[in-house]
Amino acid sequence: VFAGIAQAPEDPILGVTVAFNKDPSPVKVNLGVGAYRTEEGKPLVLNVVRCAEQMLINDPSRYKEYLPITGLAEFNKLSAKLIFGADSPAIQENRVVTVQCLSGTGSLRVGGEFLAKHYHEHTIYIPTPTWGNHPKIFTLAGLTARTYRYYDPATRGLDFNGLVEDLSSAPLGSIVLLHACAHNPTGVDPTVDQWEKIRQLMRSKSLLPFFDSAYQGFASGSLDKDAQPVRMFVADGGELLMAQSYAKNMGLYGERVGALSIVCGSADVAVRVESQLKLVIRPMYSSPPLHGPSVVATILRDSEMFNEWTVELKAMADRIISMRQQLFDALKSRGTPGDWSHIIKQIGMFTFTGLNSEQVAFMRQEYHIYMTSDGISMAGLNMKNLPHLADAIHAAVTK
Ligand code: PMP
Repeated sequence: VFAGIAQAPEDPILGVTVAFNKDPSPVKVNLGVGAYRTEEGKPLVLNVVRCAEQMLINDPSRYKEYLPITGLAEFNKLSAKLIFGADSPAIQENRVVTVQCLSGTGSLRVGGEFLAKHYHEHTIYIPTPTWGNHPKIFTLAGLTARTYRYYDPATRGLDFNGLVEDLSSAPLGSIVLLHACAHNPTGVDPTVDQWEKIRQLMRSKSLLPFFDSAYQGFASGSLDKDAQPVRMFVADGGELLMAQSYAKNMGLYGERVGALSIVCGSADVAVRVESQLKLVIRPMYSSPPLHGPSVVATILRDSEMFNEWTVELKAMADRIISMRQQLFDALKSRGTPGDWSHIIKQIGMFTFTGLNSEQVAFMRQEYHIYMTSDGISMAGLNMKNLPHLADAIHAAVTK
């Protein structure tokens, strides 16, 4: 019955890894997928995660029972505290409902489905460019995705005026997807002043913020600093949605651990919102997995383990920052034409290179460098493969 089925195209981001795996070249480099790699090019399990897992394994009181629909309660509480701050008035006033979801993607999807069912405005504005999965997640959740200007190719920075113009002309009450920090794929974030202007504009037009926080701690190396824009929106007493992922900052990629929080207008509303979130989740996957949130809760509840995590997280962020500097220096020393200062100005895991699709294809064919047409994942770079990338960029730009 499926004989006539059409071959679906490969996912544009995950497809890069598929092509990379097929390439037998010993010099190949994968800069597509946003997963941290060590200086040796290896995936990393944080030491604090290994310790937490050991503690869980050694605890005879642990079972494999189902979690409730909303997930592990302690994990939810700690996750809200991590992003909104321990002294957040919204948490103290019981206005925040948090449900454990399948990493960032699952949190976005559950939030999208909830909005499609219960929010009066179905248009969600997403930045151009954005993470490639965003439009698909929200469209399939039942929302209508529209775009707002974000990146200015001329300055390789934020198109702030374009952003303000587009959000100003959005219909009242529209939903707006905001990258909480370390915007993927551009590595360009608004300044605190710009965030404040965005906040005022959005609140004045009753635009509903939906934050996507996939890189808390990766932008500045500080968890609190990276959460500052979000906390500015919570501090004004307004509502918002927050999708959190522990994939990158705790290196828990495949464990699929994340959370959706909805900051509501009152404690009473929060109780009702939670009851409706359960109705969204139950027919989708019943309840979330147990291992990942147990690891996270073990770390977040213990001040010593929490501190160890922040040190390991900062080390990952710092290695990426150093790769930015090294790549910038390598292009300068080769005399590669163009202004490459955006490589050191942009933050987080990704750099928007400004290379065109022809140059990207050339680098794949001639240098076995695998990247999306948008940008490169800086986490895949190390001192061994960096000169090769610089050679490839130089050749692509000067050919
Ligand atoms: N949002 C953004 C901006 C991302 O870059 C990612 C991961 N690449 C995610 C969400 C979701 O990732 P995950 O589902 O693995 O947490």
